[in-house]
Amino acid sequence: MTETLPHYINGQRVAGTSGRFGEVFDPALGTVKARVPFAGKAELDSAVAAAKAAFPAWAAATPLKRARVMSKFKELLEINAGRLASIITSEHGKVEDDALGEVTRGIEVVEFACGGPHLLKGEVTENVGTNVDSHSLRQPLGVVAGISPFNFPVMVPMWMFPVAIACGNTFILKPSERDPSASLLVADLFKQAGLPDGVFNVLQGDKEAVDGLLTHPDIQAVSFVGSTPIARYVYATGAAHGKRVQALGGAKNHLLVMPDADLDKAVDALIGAAYGSAGERCMAISIAVAVTDAIGDTLVERLVPRVAALRIGTGDAQMGPLITKEHRAKVLDYISIGVDEGAKLLVDGRGYRNAEHPEGFFVGGTLFDQVKPHMRIYKEEIFGPVLGIVRVKDYREAVELINANEFGNGTAIFTRDGDTARTFAHEIQVGMVGINVPIPVPMAFHSFGGWKNSLFGDHHMHGPEGVRFYTRLKTITTRWPTGIRLGADFVMPTMK
Ligand code: NAD
Repeated sequence: MTETLPHYINGQRVAGTSGRFGEVFDPALGTVKARVPFAGKAELDSAVAAAKAAFPAWAAATPLKRARVMSKFKELLEINAGRLASIITSEHGKVEDDALGEVTRGIEVVEFACGGPHLLKGEVTENVGTNVDSHSLRQPLGVVAGISPFNFPVMVPMWMFPVAIACGNTFILKPSERDPSASLLVADLFKQAGLPDGVFNVLQGDKEAVDGLLTHPDIQAVSFVGSTPIARYVYATGAAHGKRVQALGGAKNHLLVMPDADLDKAVDALIGAAYGSAGERCMAISIAVAVTDAIGDTLVERLVPRVAALRIGTGDAQMGPLITKEHRAKVLDYISIGVDEGAKLLVDGRGYRNAEHPEGFFVGGTLFDQVKPHMRIYKEEIFGPVLGIVRVKDYREAVELINANEFGNGTAIFTRDGDTARTFAHEIQVGMVGINVPIPVPMAFHSFGGWKNSLFGDHHMHGPEGVRFYTRLKTITTRWPTGIRLGADFVMPTMK
């Protein structure tokens, strides 16, 4: 009998009542693992009502009290990291070490949020006018929602809710319907840590739940991470309904290999960053930009045997399956499109079958050379284990290529020359830049976000930008009339 998952509302696991469900797969086995309920209006309203009712007390709790709950939560997450990683692997398919890495990066944001009392400290100016002082403080917004993608079922929600909750908001998470179980364990651990009921809720669902959150009058802000078309839609719809929105979208990330680069390191970086998590990362490198043909030839020579020899499967494999059968079909289509467009297919992952799990949604590592900027395999996000090499004549052409791309999430340059690296960091139109670092995901105390069609809104996630997103600034100007400090007045008071 297939397990039916619950929502988590007001501190309780509750069954879905809409009668609509989705299937959750184990992507390595290719079998249905669970059914997830899709929220309708009733569940949406009850989650919002619970979060709204919990807000006044949580906002009034001292920042230190909130931080202590967060510290306890962090401890419980550390104890349960292995359990969370196993859930991720069973529904997402990424290999266990990678899943554990995701949990660790998520916990780092919880650790950042433990500093809530410090993060919420305001600013003071004495004597903005004679005997007049001003101070600014940041207050929580109210009920806020987070909508997350399938590819990081623990880490991406944790880019959002620890900061939101530490700042005094209450939160509704709408996780991806592809891998919804981890969020339920997270909710249980939060309750064990002492979080009051209603402060963190999990609303399972699809577009209907998202639309409900975007239009609900009692929701103040929405954080979204997912594909660009949906991010654009979420931003426009949420903003039209008066909400603060940050919507992070898709990506096409380039790694630029200069002629003076340490090629051993550059090739290692390309293999890990293109094929780790089967390419299902918004910071995955999907394009290698070879500066000069000679570098292109060397990359081909060194990458082909490595890509062909990738260990694919489960357990201690280097990469696992894709998320669904449909996504696998889409990635296979893109490989055929690349061939039709005239790119040179050097390693073809289409024929790959996993001997142990023949029904799993696996695709073999794939490598193209001679990818050109007009091709769809260059322009569109494939989100699979497919790396393309674009050859350019010099550094300038590489920068123009990257700056002309519609996405601006992450990029990297491999070089030994400080001047080139520094100039690249300065002039590249991308939000997160690595210098000899292939996947430059900022740590929790910095903020994560791309430029151009990789982010709609004004604020990046977590770090200082996260605190700004989840709080409203208030500035208070104060004058106290002359008081008792001057002592007794012996003169008859008159109307002067
Ligand atoms: P997705 O856009 O399909 O789904 C994201 C969320 O939106 C899910 O919760 C889903 O239920 C909801 N959704 C889907 N279709 C919707 C619709 N029509 N209306 C309203 N809501 C809808 O993305 P995905 O396939 O789950 O995740 C992969 C994508 O996420 C990739 O494009 C990847 O680059 C991107 N991503 C971006 C970042 C980043 O930081 N920029 C991080 C992780 C993933």
